Amino acid sequence: MSQGTLFIVSAPSGAGKTSLVRELIERLDGIEVSVSHTTRPRRPGEVDGVNYHFVDQPAFEAMIARGDFVEHARVFDNYYGTSRPAVQARLAAGQDVILEIDWQGARQVRQQFPEAPSVFILPPSRAALEQRLTGRGTDDAAVIARRMHDAISEMSHYDEYDHVIINDDFAVALDELCALVVAGRTRLARVRDSQGPLIEALLSQDHGVE
Ligand code: GDP
Ligand code: ADP
Ligand code: 5GP
Repeated sequence: MSQGTLFIVSAPSGAGKTSLVRELIERLDGIEVSVSHTTRPRRPGEVDGVNYHFVDQPAFEAMIARGDFVEHARVFDNYYGTSRPAVQARLAAGQDVILEIDWQGARQVRQQFPEAPSVFILPPSRAALEQRLTGRGTDDAAVIARRMHDAISEMSHYDEYDHVIINDDFAVALDELCALVVAGRTRLARVRDSQGPLIEALLSQDHGVE
């Protein structure tokens, strides 16, 4: 069985990456989102183990010390990290895995998985970003102001990514994200790995090719 592909998705908070990734998982088989660990407080409606694994700072630091993270970073004064064993088990089982992580984490992942396709999601305007953060109704005014401020530095890293999607019309952005994942499955290295017997049979001289 071939290894799955690891995809990296980054965006400023509120650009729509969680909504897009959620719909992508609904639409395509064989891909899962990695559930990060975080020290951020749980928002109303978030479920431990579904949206994040919510842990306290000592537990998070113990995981860092054990080397349990593929990557980890401090974002908005909280720690976020991607579990190494969970990601490795899924890739080894042939599942594609999508990471919703910030630019600092993306850099760390690229060092370990240089082939991982990466995509940055941008909002259509600053006003739209602020409206989405406000409209989502999960963060108070101070948190929103902080996230708007930090969005500019997050967005300044857009050019470190292989692909950029502007999330203006949600359906269009979703099509673009799905296309990217599907295209990743046709990469030469992956097809060679998963379709060895077929390629061997097609190229064999044993069947009367004159
Ligand atoms: P949360 O992060 O768990 O709060 O979930 P989201 O913020 O991703 O989604 C909140 C609500 O917004 C859900 O009811 C979605 O169906 C809805 N939603 C998702 N995408 C769009 C969109 O493109 N346009 C509009 N108007 N609503 C959307
Ligand atoms: P992120 O995960 O990047 O923080 P979310 O997926 O939570 O962002 O999206 C933030 C808010 O914007 C949500 O309320 C979502 O429904 C809304 N949203 C996402 N994409 C669009 C879009 N294309 N048009 C309008 N609203 C959107
Ligand atoms: P939120 O608190 O809105 O869910 O996420 C805030 C930021 O943390 C986003 O930019 C998101 O990409 C980032 N983030 C979420 N999980 C991880 C993770 O596991 N690692 C890293 N490096 N960043 C993460």
